[in-house]
Amino acid sequence: MEKTADIVIIGGGIIGVSVAYYLGKMGAKNIVVFEKNLIGEGSTGLCAGGIRRQWSTEINMHFAMKSFEVFQNFEDEFGASPEFHQIGYLFLARDEEELKTFTKNIEIQHRFGVPSQLLTRDEIKKEWPFLQTEDIFGGSYCHTDGYAGPYEVTSAIAKGARRYGVKFFEKTEVTAIEVQGTHIVSVTTPSGRVETPIVVNAAGPWAANVGKLVRVEIPVNPIRRQLFVTDTFKGIPPSVPLTIDYKQNFYFRREGELVLLSGPQDQEPSFNLTTDFDSMVETAEKATHRVPVFREARIARGWAGLYEISPDNHAILSKVPEVEGLILAVGFSGHGFQHGPLAGMVIAELILNGRADTIDINPLKLTRFKEGKAIKESLIAFKD
Ligand SMILES: Cc1cc2nc3c(=O)[nH]c(=O)nc-3n(C[C@H](O)[C@H](O)[C@H](O)COP(=O)(O)OP(=O)(O)OC[C@H]3O[C@@H](n4cnc5c(N)ncnc54)[C@H](O)[C@@H]3O)c2cc1C
Repeated sequence: MEKTADIVIIGGGIIGVSVAYYLGKMGAKNIVVFEKNLIGEGSTGLCAGGIRRQWSTEINMHFAMKSFEVFQNFEDEFGASPEFHQIGYLFLARDEEELKTFTKNIEIQHRFGVPSQLLTRDEIKKEWPFLQTEDIFGGSYCHTDGYAGPYEVTSAIAKGARRYGVKFFEKTEVTAIEVQGTHIVSVTTPSGRVETPIVVNAAGPWAANVGKLVRVEIPVNPIRRQLFVTDTFKGIPPSVPLTIDYKQNFYFRREGELVLLSGPQDQEPSFNLTTDFDSMVETAEKATHRVPVFREARIARGWAGLYEISPDNHAILSKVPEVEGLILAVGFSGHGFQHGPLAGMVIAELILNGRADTIDINPLKLTRFKEGKAIKESLIAFKD
């Protein structure tokens, strides 16, 4: 293994591989990625792959717009299909208040040129008659949203990074980061020590643990979210939008001939990755309430992944004042898959140019929490 690296990235999820790719593309050399398991085996490989441009904050809109472009042109850039299915996203409002919020958000989205639209209950019922709409006040819909394949996307970006010379070491956990004075000098793994002046923390739900290696508190909590899939089910059309029953924190979409159903999300942080029967029952209740014909479906299996929740549900993309050379690309709060491409770009710019050029990432600094500058997103990201 290398004895020195110009840049070490901890974590081989969508964020780590994107940072590696864009660093390589911008001409950086001697980049090493350490992944304690296999590439994409963390939250990325367990996620639902959702990609939307319906948000309520400017910063999330920037992330959505730029990353969307990458997903649309993915095959040209990476030579592989991202399996991007633009089935649309439909947010259902359960009261007037939610509908008002959706209306305001659509104004912001339109400023960015996103073709989102407000739908009435009748329009929703007409378009998707299998939905139970009696308790619905309307919805927010964008037909260009959709989902992509987390495995396809992550492995293609990692392959692109390798073409630029990035070295990946799987099954290699970073167990220590050495700091001299205020500067990073090396990382340690079971395979040896690597001298480096720059470390990118892209450790997803484990971001705070990596922070502890340099005694920096990183406010990112792992929160379990369960997902379930049905057996083959033909009771709804083959293509339906990813539909979010916003108040219930429940969504579903097609997964080929199956249906993917979101299960509950924990309130308390933990690294628990089990699925449980009670959660499956709760999921079935929410699913059949919204789509009565789901009573004829059978839940075949489920799994759990970890959200990486920051205090304001926005990413932390930041240098760390106390530790020179430490860069954070963490806290994506349940939407890191879709924001991964732009996150990679701006972190590469921050490292190589001293500042992000593509968009202003100052609002995402670590210090915002202490300075009372946390951001508010009303389409709460970790609900999808
Ligand atoms: C159920 C569920 C559904 C989701 N659905 C969506 C969705 O529809 N759309 C969306 O955009 N996002 C979604 N997300 C969120 C998305 O999965 C994450 O935001 C994203 O995957 C984060 O990527 P990451 O690279 O930061 O983290 P990860 O993919 O977890 O990668 C971090 C990696 O770091 C490694 N690591 C940790 N510590 C060390 C160490 N010390 N040394 C070496 N390696 C280390 C881990 O093994 C891991 O592979 C969902 C998440 C869950 C749980």
